[in-house]
Amino acid sequence: MIYKRSSQLFTEAQKVIPGGVNSPVRAFKAVGGEPIFVKRAEGAYLYDEDGNKLIDYINSWGPLILGHAHKPVIDAVVEKAKSGTSFGTPTEIETRIAELAVKMVPNIDKIRMVNSGTEACMSAVRLARGFTGKEKIIKFAGCYHGHSDSFLIQAGSGAVTFGTPNSPGVTEGTAKDTLLAKYNDLENVKELIGANKDEIACLILEPVAGNMGCIPPAQGFLEGLRKLCDETGILLIFDEVMTGFRLAAGGVQERMKVDADIVCFGKVIGGGLPVGAFAARNEIMDYLAPVGPVYQAGTLSGNPLAMAAGLAMLTELHDNPGIFESLDKKTEYLHEGMEKVLKANNIDFTINRVGSMISVHFGKEPVTDFDSAARSANLGIFNKFFHGMLENGIYIAPSAYETWFISEALSYEDLDKTIAAVDKVSKDL
Ligand code: PLP
Repeated sequence: MIYKRSSQLFTEAQKVIPGGVNSPVRAFKAVGGEPIFVKRAEGAYLYDEDGNKLIDYINSWGPLILGHAHKPVIDAVVEKAKSGTSFGTPTEIETRIAELAVKMVPNIDKIRMVNSGTEACMSAVRLARGFTGKEKIIKFAGCYHGHSDSFLIQAGSGAVTFGTPNSPGVTEGTAKDTLLAKYNDLENVKELIGANKDEIACLILEPVAGNMGCIPPAQGFLEGLRKLCDETGILLIFDEVMTGFRLAAGGVQERMKVDADIVCFGKVIGGGLPVGAFAARNEIMDYLAPVGPVYQAGTLSGNPLAMAAGLAMLTELHDNPGIFESLDKKTEYLHEGMEKVLKANNIDFTINRVGSMISVHFGKEPVTDFDSAARSANLGIFNKFFHGMLENGIYIAPSAYETWFISEALSYEDLDKTIAAVDKVSKDL
């Protein structure tokens, strides 16, 4: 493949944008080489500035569950834009999307829109602190909840990819209020709670982790956390920025039948426009301004174009629940196909999958937490794999710590091409 124009654009970008990108993991720094500049995308495919066509397994890092430029979403945005882009007043569409989200997601009465997953998680934690009157939080190593200060303590994916899980600029004062637990280790959580009695406001986690590759919760893990939180008055926050409206219409709460106290959303809820949200039952949400004392705001929150995209996306998912089953089947097909060819080529690997989230780790041991993900990251092999796949027209995330997101736009023919590429590439690993 030729990347002449991408390379030229990257050179120009680096002069005026730090590292040439507006989000670090896009830069290909972890895998080497230069990023691809995309000109347009449709369905399952990206078309770059050099005219290359790529089958996309990133899908804008998760939002585009129905594929790129999905017509109902594009039509809704275009139509809405004709009436103006932002008013800074309430609009009807904000209520309509809130009504639909509350209908789709179990255990929530109200939802507040923000502009990103980071804002959603940051605001959810503030709300939990305000509601409980406590200051400390528990997060899990390898879980990523956006780039707000409290979360940049052993954050997964992007942060780990760049070797800075604990970012400079986060004060010691902030860091000391974030307690770090091991994913899938209930005993560890119990110890932390015991050592910080009556000081913990909330426990936040990705209920299916996606930022250290895909890691499912162990049997009983989420239920155990629910029980611990009930016993201690700690609020349980599910960060469903990746999993919400993806693993089921009602996210992990529905799929795994465990209730959270506060749920955070992002990605799919915005249909590809900048949207995040957090939601809970009335008694918690009524703690938010202007009803309650916890402040949270946003000039562009509930933006009409973003709401139009989100409403069109959620409407499709609500009206066609078969989509989730279809996504699961496609992902299973890919899993089985890749497993077969990797085995045949004598590669050590572990594939983790939940619904339409899947990841390949190049190691034999089960990947169940951040430590095992790091041991299986095998960057030398992963980077070769990444570039080999790219050369064969398959675009996966440029990091060993990311999940692949399957979109409904992918055909079985696309999946077969991908499996064939894995076969070809793994012969040279
Ligand atoms: N939470 C999770 C689980 C995420 O995966 C991400 C982003 O990838 C975020 C929060 C932050 O969302 P955003 O990048 O929209 O700020």
